[in-house]
Amino acid sequence: MKHTYIEVFDLGDSVICDICGADYTASNESGGFLFGSYAYCPKCAVESLKAIHQYNEQKYIKEFCPPNLSFREWCLQLRAGENTIRMIMTKNESN
Ligand SMILES: [Zn+2]
Repeated sequence: MKHTYIEVFDLGDSVICDICGADYTASNESGGFLFGSYAYCPKCAVESLKAIHQYNEQKYIKEFCPPNLSFREWCLQLRAGENTIRMIMTKNESN
């Protein structure tokens, strides 16, 4: 039997780059930007900017991390307390 359900994950205060998955929860590094709905960490931002310019996709950069905020603080601010993500899961059950 196939079950479809929605699982809610509470991320708490953890901040993880949407691109490389690096954990910035304990980092005070500033930088990065929001590209569409993806948060690019300071490292990915630098690495991706060249390609973004090459493909003329700067318009998808919605916001840059302000220099007075760390990437972590900025991401938490963007989430505005919404620290959960929802995933639709399907599971095959043998019984
Ligand atoms: Zn990254």
